[in-house]
Parts: sequence; structure tokens; C-alpha cells
Amino acid sequence: MTLALLNYAADAWVAPTGGTEQVRSAVSGEVVATLSSQGLDFKAMLDHARKVGGPALRAMTFHARARMIKALAQALMERKEELYALSWATGATRMDSWIDIEGGAGTLFTTSSKGRRELPDDTIVIDGALEPIGKRGTFAGQHVYTSLHGAAVHINAYNFPVWGMLEKLGPTLLGGVPAIVKPASSTGYVAEAAFRIMIESGVLPDGALQLVMGSAGDLLDHLTCQDVVSFTGSAATAMKLQAHPVIARESVRFVAERDSLNASVLGPDATPDSPEFDLFIKEVAREMTVKAGQKCTAIRRAFVPAALLDAAEAALQARLAKVVVGDPQVEGVTMGPLASLSQLEDVRSRARAMAKESKLSFGDIDKVTVTGGAEGQGAFISPLLFRSDDPWSAQLVHDVEAFGPVSTLMPYKDLDDAIALANRGMGSLALSFFTYDPQVARDFVLGAAAFHGRIVLIDRDSAKESTGHGSPLPMLIHGGPGRAGGGEEMGGVRGVKHYMQRSALQGNPRVLSAITGQWLTGAPQPTGDVHPFRQRFGELAIGYTLNTASRIVTLEDIEHFANFTGDTFYAHMDEEAAAANPFFPGRVAHGYLLLSFAAGLFVDPAPGPVLANYGLEGLRFVKPVSPGESIKVSLTVKSKTQRNDEYGEVRWAVSITDSADELCATYDLLTMNAI
Ligand code: NAP
Repeated sequence: MTLALLNYAADAWVAPTGGTEQVRSAVSGEVVATLSSQGLDFKAMLDHARKVGGPALRAMTFHARARMIKALAQALMERKEELYALSWATGATRMDSWIDIEGGAGTLFTTSSKGRRELPDDTIVIDGALEPIGKRGTFAGQHVYTSLHGAAVHINAYNFPVWGMLEKLGPTLLGGVPAIVKPASSTGYVAEAAFRIMIESGVLPDGALQLVMGSAGDLLDHLTCQDVVSFTGSAATAMKLQAHPVIARESVRFVAERDSLNASVLGPDATPDSPEFDLFIKEVAREMTVKAGQKCTAIRRAFVPAALLDAAEAALQARLAKVVVGDPQVEGVTMGPLASLSQLEDVRSRARAMAKESKLSFGDIDKVTVTGGAEGQGAFISPLLFRSDDPWSAQLVHDVEAFGPVSTLMPYKDLDDAIALANRGMGSLALSFFTYDPQVARDFVLGAAAFHGRIVLIDRDSAKESTGHGSPLPMLIHGGPGRAGGGEEMGGVRGVKHYMQRSALQGNPRVLSAITGQWLTGAPQPTGDVHPFRQRFGELAIGYTLNTASRIVTLEDIEHFANFTGDTFYAHMDEEAAAANPFFPGRVAHGYLLLSFAAGLFVDPAPGPVLANYGLEGLRFVKPVSPGESIKVSLTVKSKTQRNDEYGEVRWAVSITDSADELCATYDLLTMNAI
């Protein structure tokens, strides 16, 4: 049955008015879907995103958006089999589809959980500490992030129709920005199905998501500085879009993830018997064949010490000989076809060009034995391993991406040579380095990191748990310099900030505090009759402060604490030795004694809303306290984050001062308080 794919504009499914193109199965060549975006009013879609979706998302806090993203992931997981069923026709094996579908949902889950842990339950994010400007503290600076008011336009590649869509959508929605998604046409039927599941989950506000199947029409003509284009695909398309006059004129943010000639390097310490040698061979073969090599991160260039070239070639040939190419639904098939016949033609023509400068060491560019599929109908190709003995004379291998199961094995002379060759790709998404020698690893990273977005260091100790060369992870950045596009996606909260504007605010701390929803140094610290520990989470006002009575720290206290805890460090116990230390006037109180006394001064002991002390952050002992000196504490509600229906985290700014009101210690105290 042929699927007639629909667009989704202004919260309605819209059939194209004409111009439909056919999408064929990668396995059988049969038409599986038709699509077109003809008839869509792209300007109206952008307006809808800006006027309906944006305000609705910005009215939600980061935590509310994070919960929504989790619900989307759950909806996708509940209906994942529908996506697997469609995915066969793209040529994906079950494992390839697992990366795409469950990997995509997993990315949303991680984005959601990082959002709830690392962003406030608010709509504004503080960036860095308050910058004091005026001497009297009445004028200060604070960086903040707020959501852009435009739309995100996501133009996605064909190879991971679900993951590729979700890895962009998570950070976008968390950032409070609506999205218009344009999947690649050749696998768009899987993306459309995943998109439909998200819409049908009912958790998205109106205008949050729209879908364009087919041409992007004049969409880019209507962009402004508040919009973001996030593109994944070939360098040629990226360059075309990036040169769009509106993108240049309006300084539209353009995140590009393009091709990449990723390298893998076997370290100079490896021998044919070392575990790292085997790990390297397995990884190169795996990266060539997973998703039939149609991974932006796949290893295209494999480098080994010159003395190991023959051994590595033989080992790779043996591994690749085990690959079974065919219909991914047939038992035993380990590599499916490419996603389309045009992709097959493209890979073959690039491989033919590469064969002119490198020796084909495994496979046949034009022929392959196909298991369970009609050869000549699907986009089947054999894994193709090239060997180039002179990687400095070879040019294409460092320049041309054959987006299929194609890799070239090359020798290097020494570590510097390996670094220079790896960097010859002029910017990559991912590089893997196999060594057991940490000093070699450091030297390599210092020489190569500037050219590669992610470096995976694999050895015998990490191999079992390693996620491998080619898997981008939601908590780590994905992207790379130069040829890889210069973009950066994911990376936890880093990816969210692409959809937000950083602004420097300057003003009085009272005003800055009200804007950011956090107490900032210099803002008012109102006191009251009710001890803060007697107030529930919802009752505590930001800035509310307890100023305690003072207490003298005696020499007996210090000695008692030293003997009780066993901390008899000379600075507390030996007057002469302490005085000889540049930091102390003589014996001083333990920092931990001050913390304990501070707690004794500020706690209200009876059971109440404070459920637990959850830790300290940013602790600094600023000025030593000598015996006989008195200390007092100020405890201020700095910020609050609700965790669930029962309790929330309260962050308290704590200052311990002496009799001259000079700061002795400062830290943030975290407690869990009942709602
Ligand atoms: P592509 O041909 O450049 O297409 C990418 C996307 O751009 C598709 O959605 C395509 O839509 C769209 N597009 C093409 N021309 C356009 C135009 N004039 N205006 C607006 N949109 C346009 O790339 P692909 O063949 O799908 O993907 C393979 C390439 O992507 C490889 O080079 C691979 O390295 C790269 N890739 C990179 C990453 C990464 O994260 N860096 C990830 C995956 C893939 P249609 O399909 O409808 O033409």
C-alpha cells in the first residue's frame, strides 16, 4: 500500500494540492509513499509558530517543557513497533532502526531529565555569577538567557529519520521555541509517522510543531533574526542554504551539520596481539556496515602504524567477509541496502573515483551477493575497503565522502604524522583513538582536538562500556568544525542555548533579582518573625533572611573539636607552627567547626518543613577565625526548585561573619523542603 503523506500546518493535517513525488523502498524498489508540500503557505506557517506556538511554549517553565518532552518520548516508545514496521523499507536492519527509533526516544528522555536537573523551574536562565560594577554594590551586571521569539526550521538528513528529528526537537522545545520540521524526502514516511505519534499524544500546545513533506518552498524568504535554521545534510546543500540572502541579511542563526571524513587511529603502542588492535578492527568494520555506512559519524579513514598495515588489512578483510548483505527482514542479514537508488549511484561514482588513487582491498563496486532481496531492484552494495599506502599523495580520501559502507585503510609514520593525517579531513564530527598509553592519548588529543567535535578514546579497560566511535550522545555535543559544518547540537543544556538569546543585564541587584527570580548579592534581605525553617516551600519568599545571634569560638571549642574528630592539623593545635604559615595569625578554628557552629546558630530543631540537608556548594573559607573571636550567620533564601508534589529544593545563601562584620566563610546550603 502506498502512503499518501500529509503536511501539518497550523495544527491541521494538510494534503498537497499537487506536484507529488514518489518515494521508493530501498529493498524492493516499489513505491511506498508519495509526498509534496505544494499548496502550503510557508509564511503563514511561520506566523502561526511565532504567534501561537512560541507564546504557548514560553508560558511554560523549563520543567513543564521537560515533562512535555518526556511525554513525547513515552508516546513514541508505546507505538515504536509502528515505526519499526515502516523502517524496513529504508533498508535499515532492526539494529539500525533501534538506533533511530529507540535512540531517538532516549535522546528525548535524556534531554528532559537534564532540563529538569540543570535548568530552573522558570522561564529565564542565569548565566554565570553577578558581576559587581559599582563600588557600593548598587549597580551590577548579570548575564541571562531568554527564549527566542521566532521559529526553528529543522531541515533533516535522510539517514536517521526519527533520531535526526528528535535530537533537534528536544533542545528546541526545551528552549521554548516552536519548530517547523522538514524531513528528507527519501525516508520521510518514517519521520511523518513519528511526527504523527507526537501530535496524537496531545501533549503539545497548538503551534508548537509543524511539518513540511517535500520542498521547503519559500520558507527561508520569511525568516528573521528570531528564527533558527538547523540543517543536517550534505555540504553542498548547506552552502546553498547558508548563502540565502535573507539568512545573511537578518543574521539568522544557522546551525549546520554536514559531511565529515571521520578518522579512527590505532595508537603507536599497539601490536597485532594487543587488545586495542582487535578493538580497532572491530570498530572500523562495525562503523562501515551499521546503517550501511550511512552515518555522518562513520569511520571513513582508518590509520594504523605503518608496520601494522598488512596485519590490519588482513584482519579487516576477514571481518568484512562475514557481512551478509540483503533484505534486512531476512534472518542472518547484517547489512541492508542504501536508502535509495540515487544514493547507490552516488556512492558507486564516488567509489569509482577513489579507486583511481587507492587500491580496492575488499568488495566490488558494481556487484554484490544479495540475501533475500532481488538484486537490481534494491539499493544494495558491498562493503568497500580501500587501501592507500601513501596517504599524503592521496587526495580524494581526505576530501570525498562516499556516504555508504566505504572506508580507506592507511599507514602513518609516527604520532605527529597520525595527527597531521587525521586533521587533513579539515574538520570532523567524531574521531576515535585506540591506545592504552595515557601520555600518547594526551599528546594526540592536544594535537588533534581542535579539528574534531568529539574524540572517543577506546582501550581494553573501557571497551565493554564504550558507546563506540559513531554514537552521538544527548549529553555530549554533536558537531564539528570546518567541513563538518561548524555546528554544535545537543550537549545537554548547551544545545538548548542555541534557541535562546544571551543578554547582559545591568542594574540594581534588587531589580536584577526580581527579574531572574533569584536572590543576588546586594538585593534586599527582608527579615521577619517566622523562622525560615518553620515555613513551607511555597511560603518561603526569595530573599527572606535569618540573621542569627553570635557565638564566641574558644580555644576549648577548637581543642574539643580537634580531639573529637581527630583533625589535629597543626594550624589548629600548634601556635608556633600555625603562625609560621603565611595564611594564619596563629592557631585558628577549623573551617568545619565554623560550619557546624553556623548550623547550630541557624537551625530550628523541631520537626517541620525542612526534610533534609542536601549538601553545600561553593564553599569558601575567606578569613580565618582566631580563638576568642565571635561569629554570626546570615541565611537567605536564594532560589527554589520544586522537585515533585511533596518537596522542593531550597538554595540558601549562607555568610559567616566575624565581630567586625567581615566575611569568614560563604557557601550555598541546599535543603529539601516540604511543599
Ligand atoms: P542533502 O541532500 O543535503 O539533504 C538534506 C536535507 O536538505 C533534506 O531534508 C533535503 O530535502 C533538504 N534540502 C535539499 N535541498 C534543499 C533546498 N534547496 N532547500 C531546503 N532544503 C533542501 O543530504 P542527505 O542526502 O539527506 O544526507 C546525506 C548527507 O548528510 C551526507 O553528506 C551526511 O554526511 C550528512 N549528514 C550529516 C549529519 C551530521 O550530523 N553532521 C548527519 C546525517 C547526515 P529533500 O530530501 O526533500 O531533498
